[in-house]
Amino acid sequence: MSTSVDGHGHEHPRHELSPQAKRIYAIRDLLLEKGVLTEKDIQSQIEYQEARSPVNGAKIVARAWVDPAFKERLIADPKAACAELGIDATALNEFVVLENTEKVRHMVVCTLCSCYPRPILGRPPDWYKSFNYRQRSVNDPRGVMGEFGLVLPDDVEVRVHDSTADIRYLVLPLRPKGTEGLSETELARLVTRDSMIGVMDALPKLPET
Ligand code: FE
Repeated sequence: MSTSVDGHGHEHPRHELSPQAKRIYAIRDLLLEKGVLTEKDIQSQIEYQEARSPVNGAKIVARAWVDPAFKERLIADPKAACAELGIDATALNEFVVLENTEKVRHMVVCTLCSCYPRPILGRPPDWYKSFNYRQRSVNDPRGVMGEFGLVLPDDVEVRVHDSTADIRYLVLPLRPKGTEGLSETELARLVTRDSMIGVMDALPKLPET
């Protein structure tokens, strides 16, 4: 019986897989057979993807909060600013950082599929890819934010940005009030994945550990 090893090193009998997964493995087998890819290429790409996480984004945001000159550079040239922190964003075509203010909140969606700044935030959450989110974030962004717990006064403008294969966005959330005494590392713990997609603000206080 043929088996397939997933990205976590587990073997699954092929007949237990979904049709989509079977197709992926069939394509993989062909690419290997034709010599287009090697097992090592696949494994190193899996490792690269797994190593990306919102921790990267949080590091960028916290630095921007404590260092106004870095924030300026981040907005002017996001890829170069990421490189300063050892974060490689060169895989993104165009990369734009959207700064939230008291008067303007940004929210990111990909209405077509699931375009997302993966080098910065890792893999997107399932809800980001859902038809529901892709549609409702455009029709009723305030309603969606409300469901994440962010209720904005009417005089705050909400701007929705539609990502594509060519352009990816990172929201720079507002630094929460009363966090003047926190270190950069502590500040980074306030920066959630969802606050960098823009559906909520950064956490108002440090989470319990
Ligand atoms: Fe997409």
